[in-house]
Amino acid sequence: MNNDRAHIFNAGPAVLPFEALQKASKAVLNYNGLGLSLIEMSHRSKEFEAVHLEAISNLKEIYNIPADYEIIFLQGGASLQFAMIPMNFLKQGETAHYVDTGTWSTKAYKEAKNFGEVKVIATSEDKKYTYIPKNIPDEKCSYLHITSNNTIRGTQYFNFPKIKNSPLICDMSSDILSRQVNISDFDMIYAGAQKNAGPSGVTIVIIKKTFLESSACKSAYLNYKTHSKENSLYNTPCTFATYVMGEVFKWIKSIGGLDEVEKRNREKAKLLYDCIENSNGFYRAPVEKNDRSWMNVPYKLPTEELEAKFLKEASLKRFFGLKGHRSIGGVRASLYNACPLESVQALVSFMKEFKKNN
Ligand code: PMP
Repeated sequence: MNNDRAHIFNAGPAVLPFEALQKASKAVLNYNGLGLSLIEMSHRSKEFEAVHLEAISNLKEIYNIPADYEIIFLQGGASLQFAMIPMNFLKQGETAHYVDTGTWSTKAYKEAKNFGEVKVIATSEDKKYTYIPKNIPDEKCSYLHITSNNTIRGTQYFNFPKIKNSPLICDMSSDILSRQVNISDFDMIYAGAQKNAGPSGVTIVIIKKTFLESSACKSAYLNYKTHSKENSLYNTPCTFATYVMGEVFKWIKSIGGLDEVEKRNREKAKLLYDCIENSNGFYRAPVEKNDRSWMNVPYKLPTEELEAKFLKEASLKRFFGLKGHRSIGGVRASLYNACPLESVQALVSFMKEFKKNN
């Protein structure tokens, strides 16, 4: 770990591999010694094309993406996907099904309602979104939408619904590339890059070609087919974000791919949840044990006063981003791929010390 680095637990934009930041800082000043910056280059130049194609090819390799899937890089964040998905795939006379696991999935179905019939077929609202609904009905519909990791509530799917009767779409914004997944289980996966994959400004879409072809969206820009045909260069992309994301993909390959990433993520999450569990109730994680996210760990202290004191002392020790989301309060530590084990060890030591003194 680089000694100048603070402990970064931001929920997104979030910690990135230091190697990728070093490469990016050089590329911004003088790309490959060409005498111009990466962000001064045309997105149609052969240099940027190489960056773009390499990023796509590395993502394919890391995730073992089958040949009948397309990779598209878009802008507008995951929030634009909330609208594009129904615009492209919610058919007239049909219904789209959503599983509501809080905040982002709620936003996704509320946006879809603007375009047609939507049904929430499962929800964990009854227990303040502290679990993942099981036994999700496999009914015929335009598509079923789930959110694999709930950034604010701290829940995560460890078994995806086995769906045969409709296409399955997954918002993986906050756990993309955090573990192995079987891409063929999904018709579409999407994610804003700014947690595990890169800086904000680029959105990854992995989509089955036959599903893509079924789009009926009338807008050229908002139709996935347009971007697929133009290899994600229909209009000017966020070249910087694509470059840094490409460097993050290279970093994932260099440490041993998703098996190694998953191993590290399990270890970090276990360390923090064990600390919470062994604190005799001083720290409390609200999420049901089997659904606890490896990525985002929300927890509470005995009083709001102690939480404020905890956050103040933590910030003096250069722990960044520990304040819980404004909608639920408390503390939240985001342990994305690039968060080093050392940062989690430092957080756990601080938590033990804080408990002893309070
Ligand atoms: N989905 C999830 C799971 C998220 O965590 C977020 C952002 N935190 C979004 C969607 C919205 O992403 P964006 O800000 O890229 O629109």
